[in-house]
Amino acid sequence: MLQQVSPAVITPIDPATGAVIDTVRVTTAEELGAKIALARDAQKDWAALMPVERGRILRRAADILRARNDELALLETRNTGKPIQETRAVDVLSGADCLEYYAGVAATIAGQHIDLGAGAFGYTRREPLGLVAGIGAWNYPLQIACWKAAPALACGNAMLFKPSEQTPLTAAKLEEVFREAGLPEGVFQVVQGYGDLGRALTEHRDIDKVSLTGSVPTGRAVMAAAGRNLKHVTLELGGKSPLIVFDDADIDNAVSGAMLANFYSSGQVCSNGTRVFVQRAVLSQFLDRLAARTAKLRIGDPLDPETQIGPLVSRAQMDLVLGHIERARGEGVRLVAGGRRLTEGALGQGFFVEPTIFEAADDSAAIVRDEVFGPVMTVLGFDTEDEVIARANDTEFGLAAGVFTQDITRAHRVVAQLDAGTCWINQYNVTPIELPFGGVKASGIGRENGLAAIEHYTRIKSVYVAMTPIDCPY
Ligand code: NDP
Repeated sequence: MLQQVSPAVITPIDPATGAVIDTVRVTTAEELGAKIALARDAQKDWAALMPVERGRILRRAADILRARNDELALLETRNTGKPIQETRAVDVLSGADCLEYYAGVAATIAGQHIDLGAGAFGYTRREPLGLVAGIGAWNYPLQIACWKAAPALACGNAMLFKPSEQTPLTAAKLEEVFREAGLPEGVFQVVQGYGDLGRALTEHRDIDKVSLTGSVPTGRAVMAAAGRNLKHVTLELGGKSPLIVFDDADIDNAVSGAMLANFYSSGQVCSNGTRVFVQRAVLSQFLDRLAARTAKLRIGDPLDPETQIGPLVSRAQMDLVLGHIERARGEGVRLVAGGRRLTEGALGQGFFVEPTIFEAADDSAAIVRDEVFGPVMTVLGFDTEDEVIARANDTEFGLAAGVFTQDITRAHRVVAQLDAGTCWINQYNVTPIELPFGGVKASGIGRENGLAAIEHYTRIKSVYVAMTPIDCPY
């Protein structure tokens, strides 16, 4: 049961100015109970629809999201501080792509026919799990809500979605979009609150599955709580991913990859390639070009379409990132660029940190080992392929990895040996909905996107069908 200990309202802020931009009422314990009851009722009728009809509604929701791209991108930028040039191009549209993809998949979800000889056959049914709780992080609020809702709903589940308390606004808009698209009442509902609400969802007996995007400690807490009721979980957690640049790579392309892998969304991306391993023959050339291009990044008001780097999401996140930078400097890691909070003019009101590059001599410093979740890249030299594979895998995380090389055989050979849920060759951080996404080791369990997600939002029922009378020994 939800113990109401946190404040009764959420006051999201604009991280570029620190100003409060809205007031959102927290879902009470009574409301949560009513929403769960409504969702469980609604789910039965939703699951009984022809899958193609479910798909049609998801498809309409995708169209509405695209039509409202500018408005929703603006809201996402105001609440997260991410540059409008990003939110207009990625956040809403990736959510719409996901809805469109699963709209098409809905009617193809099927079990198997299993031949058991002349006297019998078997088949499996893929059935929805029931009521799923989605719990989101603050870095891609709308995209995360869509990535969880689209496959869950396509499979015939209902969903209660709790956005991060820091970014509650666009998930509420998604509920509006679904309503306009014709989704029956109760099938997708947003609940608003703090970590205690997330805990209540995770512990609730009438919730069949929890899909969390968040940090590793929260993932552990969710899995432990879900374990008490043996709920299904999907966990999309943090990372400290390697990006490996071999000396035959196109260096400018690799620099582009490294910058996108560290500075997009001010570095607040779970799959970021924050350990950039560069083969020693091209290390100084790589660092020179990287520093020159980083110096030209346009930092400022995220609502300005020219801005490339906005603020971090909150003062707390900024302080955390600055703490990581200070510790790295204290540990003697060489600072190549950045490293400061920006306070000039209007920037002083917001939570801006310069894109920062370190060059570390080895893998021992905290900046090489801990997830920072800010615009901070660490470059490391390496000599051999075997060495870099071992160092890339020497982490508790396993979300993603990148390999830059012109040698196609080496690219596949290296990728096959990396402990990572997603690998990119000569690219970084692109996440088409068609490809499953998720982590190994401490980076998570389960997969979002692609056909793989269907397995995580359905259960299999096996049915044995006898074609002959029972051969009874009694
Ligand atoms: P948190 O883990 O702090 O929070 C994630 C969500 O869980 C929030 O909605 C939070 O609520 C809620 N929550 C907190 N405590 C509990 C609990 N005990 N039980 C259930 N829910 C709870 O993560 P952040 O929001 O700080 O996001 C940053 C982290 O997310 C980073 O580590 C990043 O790597 C990871 N991430 C992973 C991604 C992936 O796909 N692998 C993608 C994006 C981010 P509230 O905020 O209201 O306290």
